[in-house]
Amino acid sequence: NTVFVNGELIDRDKAKVDIEDRGYQFGDGIYEVIRVYDGNTFTMKEHMERLYQSAEKMKLSIPYGEEDFTSKLLHLINVNGVKDGIVYLQVTRGVSARQHHFPSGDVVGSVVAYTKDFPVPAHQMEQGVTAKLVEDIRWLRCDIKSLNLLGNLLAKQEAASEGHFEAILHRGDTVTEGSSSNAFMVKDGIIYTHPVTNLILNGITRRVIEDLCRKNGISFQEETFSVSELMTADEVFIASTTSEVMPVVKIDGQEIGEGTPGAVTKRLQSLFNERKGKEAR
Ligand code: PMP
Repeated sequence: NTVFVNGELIDRDKAKVDIEDRGYQFGDGIYEVIRVYDGNTFTMKEHMERLYQSAEKMKLSIPYGEEDFTSKLLHLINVNGVKDGIVYLQVTRGVSARQHHFPSGDVVGSVVAYTKDFPVPAHQMEQGVTAKLVEDIRWLRCDIKSLNLLGNLLAKQEAASEGHFEAILHRGDTVTEGSSSNAFMVKDGIIYTHPVTNLILNGITRRVIEDLCRKNGISFQEETFSVSELMTADEVFIASTTSEVMPVVKIDGQEIGEGTPGAVTKRLQSLFNERKGKEAR
């Protein structure tokens, strides 16, 4: 397995991280996960754009331009012959003697990328998954896809340790998103999801869903909703690059709707599949 480290393609076993890399010490960096379907990337441009937006928000400089970086990643995908998988990439603020403030401008960011096989979680997508409500204790810049994921990890672990697929986060009474996904509910045929603010990550899958809704006459409302609205919704689903459109059939042990994947969720799954077939390039 070949990985990309600071401009070079090397063997996974040869890859090394400096002990004073700011990503390693502070989580001072950003990342993306991009889907590969049948050897083609899906919504890669959107992911790359978000990466550069995250970089700007962090005042972090990515050593390559967007087009250059994109072709480097496509090359890596080819070299590894990825069929159904992901490419993970991260950029940190580089290596310098440990200090909180940013290093001087001549320190170049560290870039790592690797691929991984990742089949579509077909069984869970068909059966639906369960989730646990967890208080959202993360910071106020959840719009940045930063390596600092401790708040997300603590929430996910709390859910996973009880056998749940996802933690659905709420800030006080308002549902924000999943620990590694966006959260949606369906009520009377209308899809609701948290508006794009600093409190959520603007998910690429979320944007695909919004577009699918718009083009297929499904009502999509970017409006906050409460925990009790979530619990009494007709349907709930989460969405992410790796989970696609994932039905949530039980939250905190309580069935949502009929306790099976709902009609709107299933329709979105099939529209999403169609889009994958058309747009993976
Ligand atoms: N929110 C959070 C906190 C996430 O970690 C993710 C997955 N990266 C998402 C939402 C979904 O984003 P995307 O659809 O771009 O994978």
